[in-house]
Amino acid sequence: MIRNVLELGHPKLREIAQEVAQDEFGSTEILQLIEDLIDTMRARHGAGIAATQIGIAKRVFVIEVNDNPRYPYKPKIPLTVLVNPQLRILGDETVSVIEGCLSVPDLRGRVERFAQVELTAMTPEGQPLTLRARGLSAGTLQHELDHLDGLLFTDRLESSEHLYSKANYELFFAADFQRQAEAINKAYPEPIEITKHVWPSRPNNVS
Ligand code: ZN
Repeated sequence: MIRNVLELGHPKLREIAQEVAQDEFGSTEILQLIEDLIDTMRARHGAGIAATQIGIAKRVFVIEVNDNPRYPYKPKIPLTVLVNPQLRILGDETVSVIEGCLSVPDLRGRVERFAQVELTAMTPEGQPLTLRARGLSAGTLQHELDHLDGLLFTDRLESSEHLYSKANYELFFAADFQRQAEAINKAYPEPIEITKHVWPSRPNNVS
């Protein structure tokens, strides 16, 4: 079901989401939540959407990038559901990107994101999952994870001058950013690596 997306100013966007408990995995409630997130993300052409954006304070987000009219420069990401994601930053390299958000309508903003990250998470069925992301895809993951901590991209602007109306973005910044985004894509040719682990997984060096 397509859900109403909460917008900037709504207090529920500021809630810190709670971890999904062990006995909630595979439950009708969680599976319904995930289905609604996917339907809503696709209907609104989001690159991702977090549960907090539809008013559910649980640590769940979904991402998917195909040919996205909102973000034509974003590398493809297959539909992926992340439950209880944990971030590891790989190196201190950053990229400067212009972001948009379904919860911040008609605005775009320039923010700094870590260029290489690893997220470990669970699938809705409770299987472990690792995502390594670089460049723009790394930014997308950090943006969604921020939602689970009650943060929006507008909280990460260096100054208010880095916030643009959609009209001004299109007029003055979109062409430049398209070129910058292409350079980032070139610098990080492997934007996403997703590893689903078979349960139980155990490193070889553990006995
Ligand atoms: Zn967002």
